[in-house]
Amino acid sequence: MAIVIEGRTKCPLCSRTVSDRDEIRAFTAFLPKQHKLWRYSDAAFHEDCFSSWEHRRFFEEVWDARNDLWSERPDVPHDSSEARDWYSEFTSSFNDLVEQLSKKHGIS
Ligand SMILES: [Zn+2]
Repeated sequence: MAIVIEGRTKCPLCSRTVSDRDEIRAFTAFLPKQHKLWRYSDAAFHEDCFSSWEHRRFFEEVWDARNDLWSERPDVPHDSSEARDWYSEFTSSFNDLVEQLSKKHGIS
């Protein structure tokens, strides 16, 4: 998850700081680096800002799909060749998915 530093972390939508007392929605850096919305993917949003954001549905769909794919990872040591093979397949399926969903939501 994005690390929330009291009084320092800013919501990328309104630029106001995010506090522990706020309701927040936080994500890890889950989008590929070259994606247009990448900088929003390692961020903590105010719940209110996030829920009215134009890209909310896209974010939620990609995030859920990513977690579904990720939950299928094999239970093997993470440095094994099986894990590396799985991860490279995961990355390629995930990138395809991001592309499809970006198209679907009109994000290029
Ligand atoms: Zn905000």
